[in-house]
Amino acid sequence: MARIFAYIVHRGGVPDDSAAEIAAAARRMEPAAEPTAIVAGWGAELDAACTALAGHYPEVWKLASETLAEPNAELVRKALVRVLPPASVVLVSHDHFGVDLAPGLSIKLNAAYVADILAVDARGEASLTVVRQEFGGQVSAHVECDISTGAVLTIRPGAFKPPGDAPTRGKIIDKSSEIGSLAAGRRYIGTVVAEAGNVDITKHAVLVSVGRGIQDKDNLQIAEELAEALGAAVSCSRPVVDAKWLEKSRQVGSSGKTVKPKVYLACGISGAFQHLAGIKGSPFLVAINKNAKAPIFQVADVGIVDDILEFLPELTKKARELHGIAAR
Ligand SMILES: Cc1cc2nc3c(=O)[nH]c(=O)nc-3n(C[C@H](O)[C@H](O)[C@H](O)COP(=O)(O)OP(=O)(O)OC[C@H]3O[C@@H](n4cnc5c(N)ncnc54)[C@H](O)[C@@H]3O)c2cc1C
Repeated sequence: MARIFAYIVHRGGVPDDSAAEIAAAARRMEPAAEPTAIVAGWGAELDAACTALAGHYPEVWKLASETLAEPNAELVRKALVRVLPPASVVLVSHDHFGVDLAPGLSIKLNAAYVADILAVDARGEASLTVVRQEFGGQVSAHVECDISTGAVLTIRPGAFKPPGDAPTRGKIIDKSSEIGSLAAGRRYIGTVVAEAGNVDITKHAVLVSVGRGIQDKDNLQIAEELAEALGAAVSCSRPVVDAKWLEKSRQVGSSGKTVKPKVYLACGISGAFQHLAGIKGSPFLVAINKNAKAPIFQVADVGIVDDILEFLPELTKKARELHGIAAR
């Protein structure tokens, strides 16, 4: 099979959590794969990211350029086109940066493109069958992808669980001299960090997260009571914020907060990729949804098909009993 590369973003020298998940996806595609991570940036932060990635990948390619110090998918795309060998399979996280980078990269490489991959079905010498969702997750599509001229594939965050192997000691190869000078038509101006709000959902080990399935602002109380019994905080999906039931600082997802809890209870949340993109660190994911076909069940560790309006109060009762908390 073609050589597999993973483009990994980092923030301040810390690789994105998708790094280990993408390595797991590469091994699902080719169990004997020795995937190569590629990381771009500048200075000490880039060196730190390379060292961290060498713990997950047998080989790490370092692309150092002052112009790559700030996130700009156009520049990264140009750098990748210059270093990648023909017919490479390139894996990218299906997040903000990945969906900006991947389509243009596939065109420049004349490679197949499949977005938002959840699973790998089958592999052949020159083809790969992958699973993605369509129609908001109502349909699973099995897509056969010709990889004879390469492929660019975006991987849904949380879909491939890292096996928890002992860290490797990969070698770092400096490819910076091959990228030459880079220029882009667009310019990065800055990142605006959202305010923490009165409850900082990024700091909690357990999150009770509610989605549109909560149905009404008044029903939020049942999530708050469960959170209190579990020592958790309440977070939510975007429709809950759009309906003004909770403040924006509680929203998890690509246009909300990135959270890294140990346990995540997704209550009445369908599992759109924009929501899942905000859940990092492979938490133990419990999904409660009355639709057995909800896409969230494909990434959940435990799936409960039930009405949250009935199930959550029962769970609260049990949690209170376990912790010796008197009912209110
Ligand atoms: C550019 C962009 C950025 C976005 N950013 C974000 C983001 O940051 N975060 C985010 O969350 N979304 C974001 N979205 C929206 C995202 O695409 C989804 O629309 C959203 O995540 C869906 O939220 P949901 O799962 O709560 O609602 P729905 O998709 O409507 O799902 C509701 C679920 O609740 C279940 N349900 C209903 N009633 C009950 C019940 N009584 N008991 C149990 N289950 C029940 C249903 O079966 C369904 O699965 C973004 C979209 C775009 C285009």
